[in-house]
Amino acid sequence: MKVEAQIDQLREVISRYKENNPNAIIGFVPTMGALHEGHLNLIETAKQQCDFVVCSIFVNPTQFNDSKDLDRYPRNKEADQLLLESVNCDLLFYPTEDEIYPGGVPNYKIDFQGLDKVMEGAFRDNHFQGVAMVVERLFEIVNPDRAFFGLKDFQQVAIIKHMVRLRNIDIDIIPLPIVRSKEGLALSSRNQLLNASEKKDALIIVQTLNHAKEQWNDQGSVESFKQMLTDFFNKGNLRLEYLEIVDNETLQPITEKQKNVSCCIAAYCGEVRLIDNIQIS
Ligand code: AMP
Repeated sequence: MKVEAQIDQLREVISRYKENNPNAIIGFVPTMGALHEGHLNLIETAKQQCDFVVCSIFVNPTQFNDSKDLDRYPRNKEADQLLLESVNCDLLFYPTEDEIYPGGVPNYKIDFQGLDKVMEGAFRDNHFQGVAMVVERLFEIVNPDRAFFGLKDFQQVAIIKHMVRLRNIDIDIIPLPIVRSKEGLALSSRNQLLNASEKKDALIIVQTLNHAKEQWNDQGSVESFKQMLTDFFNKGNLRLEYLEIVDNETLQPITEKQKNVSCCIAAYCGEVRLIDNIQIS
């Protein structure tokens, strides 16, 4: 696997590959590192669907609204590199902040038509502006044919799809399912910050989501359903930030039962903020 930190060199590697393989499909997996099986599944799927796969590792400061969260975010370059080699990733892009934002962070905003106002967007100011900005920049640098994203970040997938439509970016966005530990915890780089007993406590998230799926067809209003799930969740030890029942397309909380619905949760396990979701209809 080649590792490049500079845009010019990255582009040279990709264009040399394309010269020798003119019909090659270039796949791209953007990450913030501290890689786990969830990321590796994206790379492996990209490898199956594409000829050449680029992974980026960049802890993007503009999507963190909490500087403590940014400082604490796990960074693990050597281990990440070995993991990427184990799944035959072709090229790792490991840029500095200056490389991504020469001349500072731009201050344009994208209109997400409300997709960014709910759930993560409601609790993390400007988070999705930061996400979209860095992904757009990475897309411009790597110029892949396909980009792979995990549904662990369900709202992020909707934001990226919207951005790509709005900007007429010719890249296929491929969402892939959530990878979980054998106990059910959605894998996350932040799980490294949990001790063994917190990891057990965190299972209340997936238990609540599974409960939501099992109970969805029962009688009762959306409001009472949500209350029932909140009570279920609150029997555990986590601090709930939100539990929403939302439309899969608009991401807006629903008030009447309908099809195409997901349940999304964000909660604090000690100091660590975790998110997870499940499609319930
Ligand atoms: P991150 O490094 O957290 O920015 O994540 C990089 C990519 O990996 C994003 O598309 C995430 O949605 C995806 N991802 C992270 N965790 C998981 C998981 N447990 N299952 C599937 N995809 C994941």
